[in-house]
Amino acid sequence: MADGESSLHECQGCGLQQFVPPLAPHTRARCVRCGTGLRTRRRNTIEHSLALAFAALVLLIITATTTLMRVEASGIVHLADLIAGPQELARRGMSSLALAVVFTSLIAPSAKLVGTIYVLGLLQTARPPRHIRRVFLLVRRLTPWSMAEVLLLGAFVAYVKLQALVTITAGPALIALLALAFTMFWLDSELDAEDVWREMERKGVGDFVPDARPGALACHGCGLVSLPRDTEHPRCPRCGSALHWRKRNSIARTWALAIAAAVLYIPANYYPVLTVIQLGSGAPSTILGGVIELIEARQWPLAALVFLASLAIPLLKLAGLGAMLICIQFGVAGWLRERTLLFSIIEFIGRWSMIDIFMESLLGALVQFGTLVTIDPGIGAVAFCAVVFLTMFAAESFDPRLMWDVLRPAQA
Ligand SMILES: [Zn+2]
Ligand SMILES: [Zn+2]
Repeated sequence: MADGESSLHECQGCGLQQFVPPLAPHTRARCVRCGTGLRTRRRNTIEHSLALAFAALVLLIITATTTLMRVEASGIVHLADLIAGPQELARRGMSSLALAVVFTSLIAPSAKLVGTIYVLGLLQTARPPRHIRRVFLLVRRLTPWSMAEVLLLGAFVAYVKLQALVTITAGPALIALLALAFTMFWLDSELDAEDVWREMERKGVGDFVPDARPGALACHGCGLVSLPRDTEHPRCPRCGSALHWRKRNSIARTWALAIAAAVLYIPANYYPVLTVIQLGSGAPSTILGGVIELIEARQWPLAALVFLASLAIPLLKLAGLGAMLICIQFGVAGWLRERTLLFSIIEFIGRWSMIDIFMESLLGALVQFGTLVTIDPGIGAVAFCAVVFLTMFAAESFDPRLMWDVLRPAQA
């Protein structure tokens, strides 16, 4: 399907199906009802994204293999690379936290980049294999879990905190990480997924796509709106995902994940996340304690950043999700646009809470100077990381279109 004709889209924010006219490059179509972006069209999106993914992969390799920071205290020098933090966490028996850090800082970004290069590279050939659909779906799912820019901020907070304790020098990996975060962001805004799916369709990767019309189902994987032929087990003809009217058991799953996160929020704030012992004195500090220490050290911007990322964002996410779920269950029809906007904010900010975890992991690896000064990550960090992951899963399982379904009681 060329970009020369209108195509039926379903808004991910409110579920309204609408025809999107042919878009000129660098223009964006928004939903007429809720304002959510439907599609942003790019020029040469496949070639540009392929080049950016290659560049990002090279930067990721440099980030992962060179020195991130070098610290020195009374003649003893410690070097830390990307993997040093998780190694130290695993050595202290916090393997789950180590795994979470490795997954979000290394595994997810590299899998996303290799997958993107694989799919876009094969799309340049005359007959791409069918399995690139699965790979591209995986790439799209990994995107929120690939956290180069959050890691960058975590490293920055660690750097500022360390300046007060030891002599610290930034390594080449920190510069590479800065470039990587920028390139990943550029890649995400450059990649027009709809264009990639249409290219697959042109090259015959999926099944025949029938003409869509209102009343058809929208695919959660690729966004195609189609009338499935198999009504018993409907599947998307373009990407092969199972089709559902709305995300399955969305309300119950979101409630379960949000309640689990709310319960874990208590130990995450009660138990220490960090213990700094300097010249034999020092005490474990909680997340709130860490913010107060930053305020006392007059590091206002950092204190605000950690307060937002570690205390305000998780609370806002939990309260927001809870309020939205209650509104759906009571059939509230007010503030629909505002609630949709609130959900897109919740979805966007969730990953930034990992700043604290990345910072603690780096500090634990770098500052081990015996009786002089040591920093040990605490058990509260494990609970906090679980809160972040659970709220991200909760946002993923929430279906904002359910809020708007109150306007169409005859259907569903
Ligand atoms: Zn909409
Ligand atoms: Zn699909």
